[in-house]
Amino acid sequence: MIIKVFILEHLVDLLYMINEPLIVGAGPVGLRIANNLARAGFEPLILEEHDEIGSPVQCAGLISTNILGVHKPPAESILNRVYGAKFISSNNSVLMISKKVRAFVIDRELFDKSFINDSLNILRGHKVLRHDYTRKGVRIKTERSAFSARMLVDCSGPKSDLKLLTGIQARVRLKHDSRYVELHFNACRDFFGWVVPESDEVVRIGLATAYKPREHFNAFLKKLGVNEVIELNAGMIPMSIASFCDNNFIRVGDSAGQVKATTGGGVITGLLSADVASRAVIKAYEENNFSRKFFINNYYKPFNKSVGRGLRIHHRIRSVMNNFSDKDFDELISFLEKNKKTLLKYGDMDFPAKCLMKMLLKPGNWSFILKAIK
Ligand SMILES: Cc1cc2nc3c(=O)[nH]c(=O)nc-3n(C[C@H](O)[C@H](O)[C@H](O)COP(=O)(O)OP(=O)(O)OC[C@H]3O[C@@H](n4cnc5c(N)ncnc54)[C@H](O)[C@@H]3O)c2cc1C
Repeated sequence: MIIKVFILEHLVDLLYMINEPLIVGAGPVGLRIANNLARAGFEPLILEEHDEIGSPVQCAGLISTNILGVHKPPAESILNRVYGAKFISSNNSVLMISKKVRAFVIDRELFDKSFINDSLNILRGHKVLRHDYTRKGVRIKTERSAFSARMLVDCSGPKSDLKLLTGIQARVRLKHDSRYVELHFNACRDFFGWVVPESDEVVRIGLATAYKPREHFNAFLKKLGVNEVIELNAGMIPMSIASFCDNNFIRVGDSAGQVKATTGGGVITGLLSADVASRAVIKAYEENNFSRKFFINNYYKPFNKSVGRGLRIHHRIRSVMNNFSDKDFDELISFLEKNKKTLLKYGDMDFPAKCLMKMLLKPGNWSFILKAIK
């Protein structure tokens, strides 16, 4: 019987194209891993459901200048340079403008396309429908074909087993000072609304929430006096981190929830996680070990010590903010105003730990911080 199953599995394998490894999703994370692996001599196959890389766009495109140390965005993808932010609550607001550029507003389609090169083998228009485990690895089926490999790297974006917020965004014509973004804490209950300027004339207005997103979004557009919507998009934002290692299988990027819970930004954290994952995949092939335990030791643990540590701080801040009342947000704005100098000097939308420490060291800040975390 065992021999029969063994022979049958081998015969079935002949029907599948073998590529090592298989990567699902040609977003920035999948493409980053594919590039890392190609540089190490692998020939990964990337399966992407859409015909066009980077489209449809589901992103506000606000990426801090930390991106320059990870993946330099092509000049034509940078639409605007942002120097600061205005934080707005029901009865309060504070504007912080720095002398240096803090973030870029990018064209996500051009940014995603900048990861493509001739060394990559990308099958566009191939939606992965399912994957099954075999003794030798994984088989996956798309609408058109079937593939097998020792391992599968899932970079296919937010998954339904994660806690998710619905993000809705419109590109609109609205006069706005292009030097700063706006964060509206009163736009919805469990996140915030944003205004991200492409220029002084065109902005991206959006919000994310788990509660009645469309209603909140329409009210937000109305409040901002928007008359002309150029285009609309929506997508899911993960608010929890997945258990992302299994035998012959890992998840990376949004699919693993490797996103900042404070802002929903996942491009930089996803790319940094992609590098940790790439090292684990290379080692797995070198050692011919694709077990869950191997990936926990070589991917989950290094991730947890690096990117994961930062993400946990974002999650803590988010859980504190999710309990805030309107009055607490008004007080938060006063707190930010009081700490403006520290924030302008040490504030970092990706790595908030240093700035938080600096603020914690000031005894005058303790009463607000203790009240916030109680
Ligand atoms: C409204 C909104 C605003 C955002 N704003 C920002 C922001 O300003 N800054 C920031 O840093 N981040 C932002 N994000 C988050 C950011 O877009 C993601 O973190 C980032 O795109 C994650 O990259 P990824 O490669 O993991 O996944 P994705 O970019 O989602 O790529 C996944 C890819 O997998 C493909 N795919 C999915 N399912 C399948 C399948 N079954 N078969 C084959 N292919 C499949 C998809 O087509 C896609 O190309 C925002 C997200 C939303 C929804």
